[in-house]
Amino acid sequence: MEPILELIDIKTYFSVRKGLFKTLTVKAVDGISMTISRGEVVAVVGESGSGKTTLGRTAIKLIEPTSGKIVFKGSDITNIKGDIKWIRKEAQIIFQDPFSSLNPYMTIKQILEEPLIIHGVEDVSEREEIILRALNNVRLSPPEDFILKFPHMLSGGQRQRVCIARALVLNPSFIVADEPVSMIDASSRAEILLLFRELQEKYSIGMMYITHDIATAKYFSHNISVMYLGKIVEYGPTKEVLKNPFHPYTATLINAIPDPDPENRFRERSIVPGEPPSPINPPTGCRFHPRCPQIIDGKCSLSEPISREVDLKHFVACHLY
Ligand code: SF4
Repeated sequence: MEPILELIDIKTYFSVRKGLFKTLTVKAVDGISMTISRGEVVAVVGESGSGKTTLGRTAIKLIEPTSGKIVFKGSDITNIKGDIKWIRKEAQIIFQDPFSSLNPYMTIKQILEEPLIIHGVEDVSEREEIILRALNNVRLSPPEDFILKFPHMLSGGQRQRVCIARALVLNPSFIVADEPVSMIDASSRAEILLLFRELQEKYSIGMMYITHDIATAKYFSHNISVMYLGKIVEYGPTKEVLKNPFHPYTATLINAIPDPDPENRFRERSIVPGEPPSPINPPTGCRFHPRCPQIIDGKCSLSEPISREVDLKHFVACHLY
């Protein structure tokens, strides 16, 4: 498959002021490499604070990386500053909150028309045709019933459909979907995810699907990257990782998924013990060691594990392997 996005040893650090004279460094993303191909969905899974949102934004240059290399559609875009219009057209993002990501003073038609105007679709009837098709694609139909509405006149699920339509009007080859269903009603989530999947397949879009919910990644992604405190600790084909997780953190995330089978409703579910440490001062050695149930004394707190291929295309960074 043709790679759309290649991230090579990406680090994204932020400086935060502490008091008057002290500056601390937050290592939000700390040495991540990843490739996403056309038509492929890679889920980036982890608790909040793991750095997954920063990774998604860095990947499409909404945030500048501190170091590393970003290759998009074969071009090194790491240091591009001026002409990024083509990247904005080719790489879209869908935000977590459909409420705040739509301008409340614009109609749905204006919201969908704006990127088309910015990117040079001058013909009014062509724009109208694209907008109607996009609304039909996301099942807001008949589209004529929606184009003159304002965001507040729609439900949360309908607003997120508008966000998806807005991401699709420019026919992108890559989308970062940042927790796209976490803020909408549980009843609409499955429907929106299915729609997402259908459109992603139809247009063969490469996608980074960011989520804290490993259960949704199961239905939606080809590969999973499990992220912990700025690093990828496990990566592999989704089915394999979920069936046979190697990293203790991944295993605990999977074990915490509620079982829909009523027979198993009393099954004991594990949770990851404690809170994630601060990315300002991450633990030495393996960053997961203060919370790991399988810590190897005298080793895990001292040396950082390197990612190794322990099964076909299945990588893990853990001293147990
Ligand atoms: Fe646990 Fe050690 Fe593996 Fe880290 S390297 S996950 S502390 S066993």
